[in-house]
Amino acid sequence: MRQKFGIDAKLKCLDGEFDLNFMVLETSGQKYILKVMRADCPSDLVDMQCAAIRRLEKKKLPIPKIIPSLSGTDYVVFDDEEGIPRLIWMITALDGICYANIKPQSLNFIYDLGIKSGVLNLALTDFNHPYLKRDFKWNLMQSNWIKDHLNLIKCKLRRGIISEIIDQYEIILEQAQNLPHVAIHNDLNDYNVLATSRNLGGVKVSGIIDFGDMVLNPRICELAIAGAYAVLDRDDPIDALAKLVEGYHLIYPLKVNELKMIYTFLRMRLAVSVINSTLMAVENPEDPYVTISQAPAWRFLEQQLSEGMVLAKLRIVCGFSITSNATQILTYLNEARGSFAPIFKCDLNGAPMGDLSVTGSAVPQNPFELSLDEASAIGDEIDADYWLGYWGEPRLIYTSEAFQNGVYKTANRRTVHIGIDIFASSGHKIYAPLVGVVEALENREDYLDYGGVVILRHKTPDKNTFFTLYGHLNPEILHTLSIGQTIKKGEAFCHLGAQNQNGGWAPHLHFQLALSIDEMGDNWPGVADPDQMDLWGALCPNPAALLNLLDTKTAYHPLNQNDILRGRQNHFGKNLKLSYDEPVMFLRGWGNYLFDQMGRTYLDAYNNVPHVGHSHPRIQAVVSKQLQLLNSNTRYLHPAQNKFVNLILAKMPADLNVCYFVNSGSEANELALRLARTTTGGEDIITPDHGYHGNTNAALEVSAYKFNKPNGIGCKPWIHLVDVADDYRGKYRRDDPDRAIKYANLIDDAIAQIDIRGGKLAGFIAETFPSVGGQIIPPIGYLSAVYEKIRSLGGVCIADEVQTGLGRLGDYFYGFEQQEVIPDIVVLGKPIGNGHPIGVVVTTNEIAENFANGIEYFSTFGGSTLSCCIGAEVLKIVEDENLQQNARLKGERLFEGLRKLQNCHSLIGDVRGFGLFVGVELITGECLTPATEIASFIVNRMKQERILIGVEGPFDNILKIRPPLTISNNDIDCILQNLDNSLSEAALLTDELRNII
Ligand code: PMP
Repeated sequence: MRQKFGIDAKLKCLDGEFDLNFMVLETSGQKYILKVMRADCPSDLVDMQCAAIRRLEKKKLPIPKIIPSLSGTDYVVFDDEEGIPRLIWMITALDGICYANIKPQSLNFIYDLGIKSGVLNLALTDFNHPYLKRDFKWNLMQSNWIKDHLNLIKCKLRRGIISEIIDQYEIILEQAQNLPHVAIHNDLNDYNVLATSRNLGGVKVSGIIDFGDMVLNPRICELAIAGAYAVLDRDDPIDALAKLVEGYHLIYPLKVNELKMIYTFLRMRLAVSVINSTLMAVENPEDPYVTISQAPAWRFLEQQLSEGMVLAKLRIVCGFSITSNATQILTYLNEARGSFAPIFKCDLNGAPMGDLSVTGSAVPQNPFELSLDEASAIGDEIDADYWLGYWGEPRLIYTSEAFQNGVYKTANRRTVHIGIDIFASSGHKIYAPLVGVVEALENREDYLDYGGVVILRHKTPDKNTFFTLYGHLNPEILHTLSIGQTIKKGEAFCHLGAQNQNGGWAPHLHFQLALSIDEMGDNWPGVADPDQMDLWGALCPNPAALLNLLDTKTAYHPLNQNDILRGRQNHFGKNLKLSYDEPVMFLRGWGNYLFDQMGRTYLDAYNNVPHVGHSHPRIQAVVSKQLQLLNSNTRYLHPAQNKFVNLILAKMPADLNVCYFVNSGSEANELALRLARTTTGGEDIITPDHGYHGNTNAALEVSAYKFNKPNGIGCKPWIHLVDVADDYRGKYRRDDPDRAIKYANLIDDAIAQIDIRGGKLAGFIAETFPSVGGQIIPPIGYLSAVYEKIRSLGGVCIADEVQTGLGRLGDYFYGFEQQEVIPDIVVLGKPIGNGHPIGVVVTTNEIAENFANGIEYFSTFGGSTLSCCIGAEVLKIVEDENLQQNARLKGERLFEGLRKLQNCHSLIGDVRGFGLFVGVELITGECLTPATEIASFIVNRMKQERILIGVEGPFDNILKIRPPLTISNNDIDCILQNLDNSLSEAALLTDELRNII
């Protein structure tokens, strides 16, 4: 290295199949890869690679640079210790880790790989080199050599698969030979692609390496090879391939005839891989790795994916029409609108549209379970003989498993209706809109399926075929119709089914159009995943024309989220913040789930206000009933007030036996401070740093989390801060057995300050477990020592239990129980109203007596009849549904999982909390450096995976997991799985990993 390249460096041997590769570490920190080629390596092989890399030098591509030798050549010849001449060359080392080591492989990454492959191929269009035209087993255009080895595949089924792939390949090979040829990388497998997520923009391609397999081939070979790796072991292989092709097409546009060949070539590449490794297995029968490495390829090849669907997806992502004749069919339907025979003998133009959308309908009450009663009552409130349901409408009524894809509730679910519904009475006759031939007949008896269903095949005057589907029919069709039978235009050919015949629904016709059925396999879906609407909306467009209706009448128009965002920006204060880099809009809630307007399910692991779950049916019932009866105030007697008080006091220590009802946590803290000041005659308050107690003036004064921010109101002279008892990052840590006392002793300094300013202590206020301060659990003994000091000076101890109260901690109903103290005043808020504005102050008789000094205390809405009913119901639900116990059990599962993650992700510094009050502190390096950017990356990544968590703490580096108490084991597993994935991605941001190849 010194002699040929003038470089002094340490070498580390890396993996390589035929050649020797070394990581070169210069003392300056600069890293290179030194490549010592095999003894018989033709110089053309190195020359080709160097020439290609040189050609790509000026392109925006993450490829290595060549380090020329001292004599200025790209490679040199050097004799090894046996005197054999070796070709040696050197390139720069790139950032990132092998993409193969990253799980899961995101669609965005695959898209980026598509883009970069496009740039690469485009830049090499006029590149040529004699070595590109060699005979080579990995040349996809010369792959039928595998035919001779078919008999090595012992399993008949598998042999059949490979043989079929070869047949298909041979059919299109000649056509492929006629495509333009370009120099391609030819091995974009996930060991030759490096990844980082350094710019927090998600995982991106940071390196394309190893140009030794380059050949001159049609560019679809590049996509087929990269695609052959991208599709393996995924739930969504076609989407992965489509993303790759979409990225490529953006840079280097593809033609339809090329798209048609990609899938066959992809399968052929996998066939070559399995035959090649089977051959190797014959040579190395002892090596189990060979068979293991084949498994993902076999898993893919054994799937029965619809080739029509693959092509349709590729066409759509490249901006082509879904099928070659789609435009002609749509033009015909549009022109013939008005001339079709009426499907129902009635005026559908005058029929009202019904709203079954996520946004507009509260049916079903439980968005995961439409009851039979609900299904049969759909539209009961609409007073019309006929009414229509929208095409393109997202609905939550499709609740059977058939509509759900994946094990977690956050998984994609088919919600968007891609037909038009015509609701009418059962038994109604249905007439064919135009002549057609019966293509399929079925009775699909599952709950929420079609019941009787018929598909008719039609032809346009230009002989283009399309299809119509009629669902929820009387299953008599199985006897009255036969496949192949012609139905005349206007002929009555079936009847609307009754509820017991049509899958359980209120009688209606599901009428759908399909421009082709080649894509559908053996299933014709009537509802599509909102994220697949580009495809399904094109394949099954709005069939309004066939009903002689305008498309505008029957097309659903989703809310425009950007309009809503703009409206908010125009008319709301700028410091009213939105969560997440890309804000999200929710229209429905249920339990610990939220739904966006397209019906996508989000797992809510952040919101503690819906303590017993969003939209709890018992709360719905109480609210609805009470609003019909009365909603008044505490100046009148009402049993609901007493009931609420009794339920609160039942869980409080005996000495705390007076309640005040207010409207928020802030108002409750405001009152708590007033009580403390009135009873002591003091003004000075001691409180831990970084606390939050509310947005009103006095509450803000004790909220260092707000007042100490730039432009905050600052620390008032009568407020005295003490360190948060954070034994992970603070002054006194877990290795110090006296840390609780040492933290408590900090109160003495605060008391000294009060003396210095000549003030008088009113009391101490703290969130029992500081939440915005970082989900801190103070060491046991801390609060009792603090309370003792405060009380010895006549001060009052206020426990803000807004975050920690009501069973969230699992083992304790309130946080102060864990600290073994009894506060003088307890403040309750957010969760006690489950979304309704309620705050409660609970105190002793003595303090209440002192406060009753002649001036009336009244909060107009505090303790309203409705609030009392809701608050009481929340407490009863916690009891009836064992939610405190659920918090404990689910918390245990979560903590166990988080601790496992902590063992494999160095980013997790600490896991702490109780029950469902959880903090995960993220750090980098040994010195507890807060991983602030990474925490934000993770919260946003989790949101993309439809899981809501938050970030907290003075350095914004603590993940806050604080779900409604209804969360299930499956949800906990979902959080853990996704956190594991996001942490793996985030690890690519850290310095230790960044430079390992
Ligand atoms: N105290 C604590 C501990 C809180 O977390 C909050 C709100 N996040 C409040 C008081 C204030 O409650 P509200 O927003 O209902 O006024």
